Amino acid sequence: MRKSDITSPERFEGEVELDQTLRPIKFIDFAGQEKIVNNLKIFIKAAKNRNEALDHVLLTGPPGLGKTTLAHIIANEMNSNIKVTSGPALDKPYNLAGILTNLSQGDVLFIDEIHRLNPVVEEYLYPAMEDFSIDIVIDSGPNARNIQLKLPKFTLIGATTRSGLLTGPLRSRFGVTNRLDYYDSATLFKIISRSATILNVEASEEGLTTIATRSRGTPRIANRLLRRCRDFAQADKNLKSQKGIINKEVTEYSLQALEVDSLGLDEMDKRIITTIIEKFSGGPVGLNTLASAVSEDPGTIEEVYEPYLLQEGFIQRTPRGREATKLAYEHFGLKQKHTPQPGLGFN
Ligand code: ADP
Repeated sequence: MRKSDITSPERFEGEVELDQTLRPIKFIDFAGQEKIVNNLKIFIKAAKNRNEALDHVLLTGPPGLGKTTLAHIIANEMNSNIKVTSGPALDKPYNLAGILTNLSQGDVLFIDEIHRLNPVVEEYLYPAMEDFSIDIVIDSGPNARNIQLKLPKFTLIGATTRSGLLTGPLRSRFGVTNRLDYYDSATLFKIISRSATILNVEASEEGLTTIATRSRGTPRIANRLLRRCRDFAQADKNLKSQKGIINKEVTEYSLQALEVDSLGLDEMDKRIITTIIEKFSGGPVGLNTLASAVSEDPGTIEEVYEPYLLQEGFIQRTPRGREATKLAYEHFGLKQKHTPQPGLGFN
C-alpha cells in the first residue's frame, strides 16, 4: 500500500481477511445507519414469520460504508447461507446459471459491483429475480432446445457504488433499496472502540476520537487507521514510552507520519479541490471538464468522491458547474481570487 492510499475508501488486496475479523455479523454490532437497519429488521422479521425469503435488496453508496457487511448480516439474521460473487466475475450466463441452480430455498446471493454485470447476464437475471426460473439451452445444433428450470426462492442482494449506472429494469426488480450515508465521528468512534477490543489493543478516548474525526466518514478507513496507529504504538521507537497504547500522542504522531490530512481527505479529494481552485480559478467548472482535468471518470467523481466533499462543504454544485467554497480555500491555505456566487440549485 502506498502512503497516499491510506485514506482511500476502496479495499486493498489482502485487506479482505482483516476486514473479516472486524466485520460485524449481527445488527447489534453494526453501528449507525439506523433507519436502514430498523427497516431491514422489520422486513426480516416479517419474512421469517411468513416463512418466506426476504425480498431482493439493493444497497448503494460510496465504498467502505458497510454494504458487504450488511449483506452478510442480513443472511445471518435470516439464518441463511450466503453466496458471494461480483458483477465482473459473472461474465457469462452459464456462470450465473451455475450459481443460481446451486442455491437452496431462502439463500442469499450477494452480487457486489452489480452495475458491472454484462447486459446479457443481466437479462438472464430478470426472470430469476421475478419468477424464480431460468431458461437453459440443452443439447446443441438442430436438437438444441430451451427448458425452463424452476429455482428455489432466494434473496438477491446487490451492492453498487454507482447506482446511476444501473438500468431501470434491474433497479425495479429490487423490493428494498437503501443508500448508505457517511458516518459521523461519534459513530466511527463506536466502531473503532469495538475494533480495538477485537484487536486486543488499548486505546484512549482521545486517541480514538482523533482517528474517528480523520477517517473521511468511512468505517473501512477508520479501521485501517486504527491498525496503523497500533503498529506505530507497538513498534516505533520514538513512541516507546507509550507502552503500545493508542493515545492522543500516538495517533497525532502516526497520522502525521502517514500524511493523513487533518480531515482525512484522500488524494483524489485533494486533487479535485485543488484543480477547481488552481486550474479553474475556483470554478464554476462542468463535471466533464473537471473529470478530464483530474483523469477520473465523471460518474465516479459524481457518485464516489463528490458526495463527501459536498457534505463537508468543500465544494458546491451550481447550475454552471462545481465551485470551491471558502472552506476549501482555507483548508488548503490558498487565497481566494474572487468570491464565488452562491449556487442557485443543482445541475
Ligand atoms: P462496502 O461493501 O460498502 O465497501 P464493507 O461492508 O466491506 O464496505 O465495510 C468495510 C469494513 O468497515 C468492514 O469490514 C467492517 O469492519 C467495517 N464496517 C462497515 N460498516 C460498519 C458498521 N456500520 N459498523 C461496524 N463496522 C462497519
